[in-house]
Amino acid sequence: MQLDKSKQLFERGQKHLVGAVNSPVRAFNSVGGNPLFIKNAEGTKIYDVDGNEYIDLVGSYGPMILGHGNPAVKDAVKAAVDRGFTFGASTEDEIVLSEMVADTFPSIDKVRFVNSGTEAVLSAIRLARAFTGRNKIVKFAGCYHGHSDSLLVAAGSGLVTLGLPGSQGVPEAAVKDTLVALYNDIESVKQLINQFPDEIAAIFIEPVAGNMGVVVPEQKFMTELRELTKAHGILLVVDEVMTGFRKKFGGAQDHFNIVADITCLGKVIGGGMPVGAYGARNEIMNMVAPLGPVYQAGTLSGNPIAMACGIATLKELKKLNPYEKFEKEAAEIEACIIDAGKEFGVDVKVNRFGAMINPFFTKEEVVDFKTAQTSDTKKFAKFFWAMAENGMYIPPSQFESWFLPATLSDTDLIKIKEAIRASIQSIK
Ligand code: PLP
Repeated sequence: MQLDKSKQLFERGQKHLVGAVNSPVRAFNSVGGNPLFIKNAEGTKIYDVDGNEYIDLVGSYGPMILGHGNPAVKDAVKAAVDRGFTFGASTEDEIVLSEMVADTFPSIDKVRFVNSGTEAVLSAIRLARAFTGRNKIVKFAGCYHGHSDSLLVAAGSGLVTLGLPGSQGVPEAAVKDTLVALYNDIESVKQLINQFPDEIAAIFIEPVAGNMGVVVPEQKFMTELRELTKAHGILLVVDEVMTGFRKKFGGAQDHFNIVADITCLGKVIGGGMPVGAYGARNEIMNMVAPLGPVYQAGTLSGNPIAMACGIATLKELKKLNPYEKFEKEAAEIEACIIDAGKEFGVDVKVNRFGAMINPFFTKEEVVDFKTAQTSDTKKFAKFFWAMAENGMYIPPSQFESWFLPATLSDTDLIKIKEAIRASIQSIK
């Protein structure tokens, strides 16, 4: 595989960018080798600067659910560009997108748009603390909610309860009120509630984890989590940044038939533009400024171009209704990985949730962070490069979900399956 131009850019980028990237996973540290520099993308394909073509199964880590260059979305963005970039004042499109969100999520009466998933979640923390008058928050080991201080807590193995900073520069004071429970394990939640009665403001959860690879919780766990939080006056913050509009238009809450207290959104809602959102019932959202005492603001929040992109993306998604297609294609990909693993003697498990899917190179069923970590990451690294050689762009980490685009053709699907088979054969 020719990567000369990517290599040159990687070297050049080192001088004035940190590690030549603006988000760490793009540096390919966990798979080694030279990161790809992308020139353009169209439909289901993405092209690097050396002219290599790949089927894009990264989808920019989730936003590009329609594939690249959807004509209706492009037209909407171009029209918004012509009207002006940003006004520091409200526009009708913000109202339109808020109506679409509120119509989709029964948990949301009012929504606030921000610029990223990280911002959505950190605003939700402040709001939950203000609403409940409590300080402690709970997250689950292996879940990622963006890079804000208080949720950037090391997801250590075993029964880690009190958080430790997961990054230098995060003071212990910022995480002293963060508690860590075990995913898919309601007893670990009960223990924390017993240990800190009346102190927990909110429990934050990825309703399907995508950031330890895909881990789908049991229905019973989600139902019990909802009942337990309600019974103890704890807000349930469902972080649908990744799962929103993904397996069902109504997100994971629709799938699990639960209603969150606060819902966080990102990725698909901006269709590739920087948009995040948090929303809740009136009683909670009315605490946010200018209606209430919880301050949260943004120069570019509700940016007109981003709103236009989000509206067009959601409209197209609703029209296309790709959810059955996702299910069928992801099931075929899952079967292909399992069959190839058996045929070539490679231990591999697959988790999936609609268009979110990924293999784990392990013998164990992956049900939480601990079992996800039994994966052979060296094997994954080889698999990643074999997939690239075979024309597939998958996330360069064992612990990231793949995202199928809604527009995969039959030919794409055949190519994906052939690439998987060849790649698993090559790492046996
Ligand atoms: N929450 C979840 C579940 C995510 O997957 C992510 C990002 O991957 C975030 C929050 C943070 O979003 P962003 O990267 O837009 O800040």
